[in-house]
Amino acid sequence: MLSKLDVCCRFVFYRETDTIELSSMSKLRFEVVTAAFAKKAVEVPDCAERPSDYFAVKVFNREKMFKYLPKDVYSKLIDVIDNDAPLDSSIADSVAEGMKRWAVENGATHYTHWFHPLTETTAEKHDAFIEHNGKGGVLEEFSGKLLVQQEPDASSFPNGGIRSTFEARGYSAWDPTSPAFLMDDTLCVPTVFISYTGEALDYKAPLLKSLRAVDKAATDVCRYFDKNVKKVTTYLGWEQEYFLVDEGMLLARPDLLLTGRTLMGHDSAKNQQLEDHYFGSIPKRVAAFMKELEIEAMKLGIPAKTCHNEAAPNQFELAPIYEECNLAVDHNMLIMAIMKEVARRHGFRVLLHEKPFKGVNGSGKHNNWSLGTDTGVLLMAPGKSDKENLRFITFVVNTLAAIYRHNGLLKASIMSAANAHRLGAAEAPPAIISSFLGSHLSSVLDHMETTDDVVKILSKRELRLNIPAIPELMIDNTDRNRTSPFAFTGNRFEFRGVGSEANCASAMIALNTAMAEQLTIFKNEVDVLIDKGLAKEDALVRVIRKYIKYSKPVRFDGNGYSKEWCEEAMHRGLDCEASAPLVFDRYLDKESVEMFRKMEVMTETELRARNEIKWEMYTKKIQIEARVLGDLALNHIIPTATKYQSSLLDNVIKMEQVIGKEEGDRLSSGNIELVKQMAGHVEEIRRLVAELVERRKVANRITLEREKAIAYHDMVAPMLEEIRQHIDQLELVVDNELWTLPKYRELLFIV
Ligand code: ADP
Ligand code: MG
Repeated sequence: MLSKLDVCCRFVFYRETDTIELSSMSKLRFEVVTAAFAKKAVEVPDCAERPSDYFAVKVFNREKMFKYLPKDVYSKLIDVIDNDAPLDSSIADSVAEGMKRWAVENGATHYTHWFHPLTETTAEKHDAFIEHNGKGGVLEEFSGKLLVQQEPDASSFPNGGIRSTFEARGYSAWDPTSPAFLMDDTLCVPTVFISYTGEALDYKAPLLKSLRAVDKAATDVCRYFDKNVKKVTTYLGWEQEYFLVDEGMLLARPDLLLTGRTLMGHDSAKNQQLEDHYFGSIPKRVAAFMKELEIEAMKLGIPAKTCHNEAAPNQFELAPIYEECNLAVDHNMLIMAIMKEVARRHGFRVLLHEKPFKGVNGSGKHNNWSLGTDTGVLLMAPGKSDKENLRFITFVVNTLAAIYRHNGLLKASIMSAANAHRLGAAEAPPAIISSFLGSHLSSVLDHMETTDDVVKILSKRELRLNIPAIPELMIDNTDRNRTSPFAFTGNRFEFRGVGSEANCASAMIALNTAMAEQLTIFKNEVDVLIDKGLAKEDALVRVIRKYIKYSKPVRFDGNGYSKEWCEEAMHRGLDCEASAPLVFDRYLDKESVEMFRKMEVMTETELRARNEIKWEMYTKKIQIEARVLGDLALNHIIPTATKYQSSLLDNVIKMEQVIGKEEGDRLSSGNIELVKQMAGHVEEIRRLVAELVERRKVANRITLEREKAIAYHDMVAPMLEEIRQHIDQLELVVDNELWTLPKYRELLFIV
């Protein structure tokens, strides 16, 4: 076995910095750390080619479709992808054949329908391409039938009761709008996952429906400004935050391994207070990881653009160039999967949990969202003329109205047991949805709201808009407000509350559907005024003014973390609920159900099923944390603390024996005090763990998922904090040599 010094030396070699004092480590950890070192050198992987040479080599994109498909099949498929044309089943065989030929030529032996079940990961079931050839041998085959639809044996995915009893079948169906890709030896075909009766069992099906709803509603509104617009595309640019932890360290922390976060751990004396990590230089070993990740991402067609350090130690971010929303969501799911793989090749583990460390910033996933037309206009960007700016304001104001009307639902769309540690915990963002516009745009809206002659009709053909000038490029002008959960950033809105581990689709479904609904309402109102004889611009401005007034409560440019804002938001009638199980209720509000139904995104049955899953997931997460914490407290913490107490008492006795009772006692008084203090914590931990078990038992007897989740939130979760406080106090005083778990200073600073 390696000595502790040995391991230290290796870390020193790695980091090229001072020796770091390590707490006692298990044998397992020594071995894993050593193995990790042997596995991977620190060098940045060498890639002689330029990104443009290997970008999308693993993707069956248009270039490959063109090469591998007959011309007429290619045109029909492009029509399906670009124009929502129905999928002509006669082309399926041909597409499957071309796809398979490309995949096999590139080393694939298997194929899978790749989908997003209602968990945080993706699912796939691999089948080999082989079929009997009738002569005792096999041949590679992939038919149109297998491409278009499959029935994965996936009965254990969460379904919220939809797939009960005999109709427990689920189908995956090809999504031609997201290109197939290669992962190792497998051709992955992006699919939606639906039940036998047609209800969505995944994120992708409602996402696609929400994108269609926005497309329709936004195109209709765009046509007030330009009759040539035929399609509006939703764009998403996500920024993925994550932590890296040395693999050896992580394996010695059962809480991190099993729950994704540390359930205990005293603050490191140094964490992020010096702000020296943010945009600091990237450590060599991390740079090597990032480089490889970037190359892997590019090969899969993910346009990875920026990698940098984040605010917390060992926290980093990766952001690609924005893409069409459905593709961007798939790419985000893919990046989370490949990150985990690449990290292990570098002796790291990726933490995607929203709050792995107490007292240190958590991780989010900013969702930059915008709409654009097929005529090349970004609808959230100011233009050059008054007319263009009226269009810009139309879309901004409708966005504000949508997020105001459904602010509780939008919060629900980003809420989870893990993200609850960020939402409402004085960290980006608060558990209140509000929007930051910046002073410039705010003053434009204020002007429109209060000035009567915004539209001046000069003659029948001529009209002037009295809108203050808006700089065309606001991106660099916008004052950034990092505390706002939904900020305007020049040509897009940035939904900053999304959790780092979440599927972006959840937030996008709610946002797109709310926007589609609002644009539909808006259009109806404008049309009524036009029918009454008002000029189009006049009608537009009147309805815009109505929604500027209506959405005012959701606009907030101040400090979103302040206590005053919580009080103010309450007065404004914004949703301030912070308890995750209650926040989920917003999905079942009458307005939400109506909205999803009218926009044809989800039925009430689907919404109810999804909420059952949300509550169940919430309960399970807290349940696992409670069990892990209980186990660790009883079989790591208490034994270690009592061992140290015994050694202190030993010392007290020996002092007495050698120095004499009176003098010995006097000199041992500090140790005796410490023993008493530790014994106090140990007893409290024992008592609290026993109570935790009792409370879990009570909660487990509740049969309704919602009520059970509430019980876990109210009765179980707070106890985790209480127990942790005692453990963290012990960590401060127990001999470092005896402490079995890596500490924050090791987890956060060793890379
Ligand atoms: P910051 O950290 O300042 O927010 P980043 O450059 O890290 O900025 O990320 C910005 C993200 O927003 C990138 O993914 C970028 O491609 C994306 N983005 C830029 N413009 C748009 C837009 N119009 N619509 C959607 N996403 C956009
Ligand atoms: Mg950002």
